[in-house]
Parts: sequence; C-alpha cells; structure tokens
Amino acid sequence: MVGTGASRCTWVLMTFETVRYNYRLRPSRTARRHLCEEGDRARWVWNQCVRRSSEMYEHEGVTISAGDLDGELTDWRNNDAGWSEWLAAGSSVVQQQAIRDFCAARSKALKDFATGVARSKRRGLPRFHSRHQSQPSVNYTRRGFNLSPDGRLVVAGGVSIPVVWSRDLPEAPTSVRVYRDASGHWWASFVTRRTIEAAPPVGRAIGIDWGVETTATTTDPVFDQPHANHGARLAKKLASAQRKMARRRRPRNQPPSKGYVAAREESARVYQQMVWCRRDDAHKWAKRVVDHHDQIAVEDFRPAFLAKSTMAKKAADAAIGETKRILVERGRRYGRQVVMVPPAYTTMDCGVCGARAKHRLPLSQRTFCCDTCGHTAGRDRNAATVMVVRAGFVPASADGVRPTATHTTVSVGVPEAQAPGHRQPELGIPRL
Ligand SMILES: [Zn+2]
Repeated sequence: MVGTGASRCTWVLMTFETVRYNYRLRPSRTARRHLCEEGDRARWVWNQCVRRSSEMYEHEGVTISAGDLDGELTDWRNNDAGWSEWLAAGSSVVQQQAIRDFCAARSKALKDFATGVARSKRRGLPRFHSRHQSQPSVNYTRRGFNLSPDGRLVVAGGVSIPVVWSRDLPEAPTSVRVYRDASGHWWASFVTRRTIEAAPPVGRAIGIDWGVETTATTTDPVFDQPHANHGARLAKKLASAQRKMARRRRPRNQPPSKGYVAAREESARVYQQMVWCRRDDAHKWAKRVVDHHDQIAVEDFRPAFLAKSTMAKKAADAAIGETKRILVERGRRYGRQVVMVPPAYTTMDCGVCGARAKHRLPLSQRTFCCDTCGHTAGRDRNAATVMVVRAGFVPASADGVRPTATHTTVSVGVPEAQAPGHRQPELGIPRL
C-alpha cells in the first residue's frame, strides 16, 4: 500500500492503467424513459453520421471529419424541420459523443483496411443501427454527468439514478457509458484510473495446460481448475426459455409482442447467468494462481479448432479462451512473469528427459509414459511440466532450489520456444 508516509522511491515505481468499472443501475420509470429517449437521439445522430459519411465519400471522394459533423449537428438541432426540436431537447454532450464514437469506429475500420487485416478479422465500416435491434447506449463525458454526495449518478437533464456500488471506484471517473443489456438490466460503465502494484515475490513457478475434461491442469494438482459444467447445469432452464420465445414469436415484418420481448429477456438472463458463473470461477482461480506464483507458463492454446470438433459444446462450456485471457491479464497486472508457450508437441515430449515420443498420443490415452527414461504421469500433467521447461523457468530441482528473486522481474515478453531437442536434459523435472 502506498500511503502519505511512503518514500519517494515508492512513488516512482507506481504506474497507472485506465480501466472500466461497471455497476448495476436501478433507474426509476422516469429515468428509464429519459435514458431511452437519449439513446434514440444518439442512435439518430449515429445514423445521420453513417449517411453523411457515405454520401460525402461517394459524391466528393472525401472523408467527412468529426469537426464537420459537429457543425452539421448544430444545423440539425437548429433548423426548421419538425425533428430538430426533438433533437435539441436532448443533451448535446451525448450527441457529440455519438459523433466521436462514429469517427473512432470508422477510423478503426479504415486502419484495418489499410493495414491489410484479414477480411474475417477486420472491423467493418459503421452501419445503421436499427431501432428494433439495438439497445439504448448513452455516453457522457465529464461535462455530462455527476456523482451526488449520496452516491447517485446524475446525468445531463438532471435525472438522478441510484447506483449499486458493489465496490469503490479507485479514482474520480472521466466518463460513463449508461446502457441496457439484452436481459433488460441497466448498467453504468465508468472509465477511471487505478494504480498497478506488483505483488510480493513468492519464488514459485507453475505450468498450465488447457483441456476439455479439466479446464486447466497445472504442475501442482492443488491449482487445477476442474470443468464446472455451468452450461450443462443451466441447459434445461435455457431450453425452456427458448421454447417460450419460439411460441411467442410473431411472423416477420410484424413488431414483436410484449410477451415475446419478456421471453427474449428471460432467455438472455439465463445466458448471462452462465457467462457470469464461468467468469467468476475464472477470476477466483486466476487470483489464486497469480497470488501463489511469480512465474507462469501458459499454453498458448487457440480454442477455435475445438469449436469444429465433436467436443465443441463441452469446450465452449469450459470457456478456456476467457479463462486464459483473465489469467494472463491478471498475471501481467501484478508484475508476474507470464510466458505463452506454443502448444506444438507438448503432449509428445517428456517433462523429465525432454525426449519426444515417436507417435502422437491418441486423445483416449490419458497417461504419458516415456520410452527413454520411463517417466509416467498424467497426460495433461506432463504437458504442464513441459510448459514450465519450455518457458525457460529455472525449475525447482529435487533438492528444493526454487526460482530466485531475480526471476521475478516484470516481464511480459513472449520468448521464442526452445526446440525441445536442443534443451539441456540436466534441467530435470521441476517439483513444484
Ligand atoms: Zn523421459
């Protein structure tokens, strides 16, 4: 902790990161109506930007700038058309921010296009937002909102909304996005800044292998993360909600009934529960791993290929990608040495002598047995050991030598994986 009595040296080491802190809102009926109306106006401005931008490009071959769009916004709010009064009744902060959001989205699309990002991965140009398919989302900069002394969020237009303060904000926020999600809940997403403090060194290393049966197998069985089966647990509830939606669906080109919208929100809530459960498990596990290890070798696993296999459903339910992202982010935030290890041959190599098996292990074979040194271990456990060795961490040898403090420096590099054949066999198995 850095208090007022901390030495000057401590302050020098402090670094900051910009983060979002999300809180649930409990808006009244009046506040909900106000936010929906502001959302409608912001969406209208966004759609105008899409239209004007494509017109200017088609007719004049130029990209309309944010400044020009701001000028046009003034015209839209002040001309004689019937809608300008409606537009001018809303907050100008929100509408200017819609223009900023549009320009940021367009810049990203143009940059992806210019740098030759693959079509499947690049951001498309901003499109029109439909009234029926988009949720209200309103962005307030510092001028557009305030936090009252009793902890309510007061937005432009004088509307005050109670916030569920599930945790404290680290610093005063610089902006807030107020939005409704698919399940009908309202949220405030504050942009704020927090200090990064390195966790104290503990002198331990860990290797992590991802899998479907056990989400994460590590070199230390205490830190294994079992598959929680949240999706399977909630499958019945989800199917029931989706059947209700299907029954209430109206033919195309007809506005959805209130019952359908309620069923759609119910179904979204079940999905949300699933996602939250998985994320909660991942955060708790990542905290445990990061608190107890300062060197973390993570299999750089790409879960996309599992999505095409027969294990797709179970693999998606394990949320490997999300768990990996949370672990890596947390490790880096607390100054741990996180190394991503390419997964090639990690199931074929021996964690003790480094010899590579002649044949690929079939997935049904759960035990690894080395032909060279006779080492036998669980297939995933052996792979986790290989991760630690390949990451280049000094392993804790049989006589208890542990990674020294010099290895606990903040390092976020991804070193080239050493070819297992060239590895020094005397490194031995890390007993972690
Ligand atoms: Zn061996």
